[in-house]
Amino acid sequence: MIIQVAGLLLLYTSTVYSQPLEQKFPVTKLTDRVYIIYAPLGIPSKENAGFRSNVSFVLTSQGVVVIDPGSSVHVGRMVLKHISAITSQPVIAVFNTHIHGDHWLGNQAFFEANPKLAIYGHKNMITQAQQGRGEHWIKLLNKMTDGAITGTRPVPPNHAITHGDTITIGDVGFHVLHSGNAHTDNDIMLHIPQQQVLFCGDLVRNGLIGGENKYYLGSILAINQAMATNSKIYIPGNGKAGGQEIVEQYRRLMVTLYRTVEEYYNKGMEDFEIKSKVIEKLSPYRSWVQFSENIGRLVNQVYLEIESRAFE
Ligand SMILES: [Zn+2]
Repeated sequence: MIIQVAGLLLLYTSTVYSQPLEQKFPVTKLTDRVYIIYAPLGIPSKENAGFRSNVSFVLTSQGVVVIDPGSSVHVGRMVLKHISAITSQPVIAVFNTHIHGDHWLGNQAFFEANPKLAIYGHKNMITQAQQGRGEHWIKLLNKMTDGAITGTRPVPPNHAITHGDTITIGDVGFHVLHSGNAHTDNDIMLHIPQQQVLFCGDLVRNGLIGGENKYYLGSILAINQAMATNSKIYIPGNGKAGGQEIVEQYRRLMVTLYRTVEEYYNKGMEDFEIKSKVIEKLSPYRSWVQFSENIGRLVNQVYLEIESRAFE
């Protein structure tokens, strides 16, 4: 009996692992032109093949445009399979919202399918990719996923974009927003007024507490900029897309975090003492994935930001 159960478990486990990525991660239609493949909430693992940030694509009159093609060549190929089931048009452009590898290492799959591919990213992202950040991310993701992204190589953006640019592809205009130092120093958001959609990258998240914001006040400014577009659909880096309410929810999280750390910093408390105050204030977010793992780190990062500002 025990052997039979063990056998069933083994069968179940191998079925889960061998399931093609496109079956595991379905595509959702958001508007007549905009589609999304939701990444699972959590840290990169063997089970999720390192797929960690949402992938979106837009149909234009000339071809398909992908925003953040995923964490590996394998995720990129999975996205291509989904796209080819929807349209026979090729992918002609890719946008990368920032340097974190889970958002752009999938470039390779699209570049291999179309060597004329235009890949857009902020100039600071291009500089950092040229300095080896891609290789760093490949090592890190392979370590976390037991080698699930093996075969991936960095293909950095080949077109620099910045705030105020409009990139017109076919019949769709992509307005580029960049508000300076925020989640990183190279975040871009993409606004399609015609579709009333904003792609936020990791400047907005829904249901997940990430551990790697670089600038908190800057992140709040970027979130304000996102809200000012008055879009109907906001696409976060992680979690479900939604209306203005998901951006407000994330803004409240960031503002509460910042203000609470600032209040107790001014009272002379150390960051480890402030952590419990922040947890109390952020009780509506306790069910968010990785809350308990990352909240101490976030408090520490905000504390250091406030401290460095005090010495300016
Ligand atoms: Zn990020």
